[in-house]
Amino acid sequence: MGKALIIGCGGVASVAVHKCCQNSEVFEEICIASRTKSKCDALKAKLEGTSKTKITTARVDADKVDELIALINDFKPDVVLNLALPYQDLTIMDACLATKTNYVDTANYEPEDTAKFEYKWQWAYRRRFEEAGITALLGSGFDPGVTGVFCAYAMKHEFDEINYIDILDCNGGDHGYPFATNFNPEINIREVSAKGSYWEDGKWVETEPMEIKRRYNFKEVGWKDMYLLHHEELESLGLNIKGIKRIRFFMTFGQSYLTHLKCLENVGMTSIEPIEFEGRQIVPLQFLKAVLPDPATLGPRTVGKTNIGCIFRGKKDGKDKTYYLYNICDHQECYKEVGSQAVSYTTGVPAMIGAMMLMTGTWKGPGVFNIEEFDPDPFMDALNKWGLPWQEDRNPELVD
Ligand code: NDP
Repeated sequence: MGKALIIGCGGVASVAVHKCCQNSEVFEEICIASRTKSKCDALKAKLEGTSKTKITTARVDADKVDELIALINDFKPDVVLNLALPYQDLTIMDACLATKTNYVDTANYEPEDTAKFEYKWQWAYRRRFEEAGITALLGSGFDPGVTGVFCAYAMKHEFDEINYIDILDCNGGDHGYPFATNFNPEINIREVSAKGSYWEDGKWVETEPMEIKRRYNFKEVGWKDMYLLHHEELESLGLNIKGIKRIRFFMTFGQSYLTHLKCLENVGMTSIEPIEFEGRQIVPLQFLKAVLPDPATLGPRTVGKTNIGCIFRGKKDGKDKTYYLYNICDHQECYKEVGSQAVSYTTGVPAMIGAMMLMTGTWKGPGVFNIEEFDPDPFMDALNKWGLPWQEDRNPELVD
């Protein structure tokens, strides 16, 4: 069918590359390009001979638009799948515009000096993508990603109007370390140490970090404490879901994680303000990342399951209705299949599926779109086929 350029070669990219190789009818050829080419070469060596997909590798600094343009012109992909960091979203979108190439990512753009989680920078590309006749699919991971597809599916098949959505992200996995993050530590800690917020009656309500706590009994995981966070998909879903009155996002955290995080915060290690250290500027959070376990190494040690989904409340045929859509994913099963834990797996699989939607023309633009703006059905089918089967509950326990 075609060619995909995958940028980044970390935890999420590794899963997406494995999945592209399983899906070689669509992904005939992929190029893995990242800052550290040796990681791309190691992944290629692991997969070569196991798949019909032809793999090439390249070194690219995705902060540099001219390097990206040269690589795209050389490889001529049908789609660029951005699995580097949120800081690179705009440079990669610029290169896609210059070469008229479709674009997919899993996290919204963030400037390095502020942690805002807003779509405004990427939404500002809408007209230029339309004029270039290309498509950008934003947020094709699990959350954002599958959660948006779940919302579009519930809207299409289950409700006339959705009034309340609670997105629940539970990681019941245990890696045995006192403190480690399941994906890029810098991005993860920025997310959880920021103020919380939720969308209600057309406006944001802000909370202190971790101020709102609930307990929930997750299927196949059990009781967990979960905390209200701001999360980027709240912004687009608040606009795109008809009749929405309130949308919240909760993530589970264990007490050990929170105690360590509080201590790191109290001593200034989670700050993104550069400080002077032995004659050079360093960002404390980036230094912390360097001393924490690499998330890519957690796979063999992590046991347990993730359970991520959306609880909907709304109306169908004039009657009140509740509905829960969720996926359960087992860390060790993921590790056996692709050598990664479930947090990378639940992001890498939808990233591959999003790229497939554009490569096959199943989803078409042109323009810049959040995932819930497309027909959810082919994506929902693909989730079942490619390793993230979903389940429904028509009488779920609600979150107060
Ligand atoms: P990692 O840190 O494991 O990997 C990031 C990769 O990007 C590394 O290979 C890194 O290279 C590469 N990279 C960083 N900067 C550059 C650059 N300037 N040029 C080229 N390559 C670069 O991160 P993850 O795999 O955990 O996360 C990847 C993305 O997925 C992030 O944007 C994250 O926010 C997102 N994500 C989304 C989720 C969702 O559900 N939507 C959930 C989890 C993650 P190097 O190896 O040299 O460091």
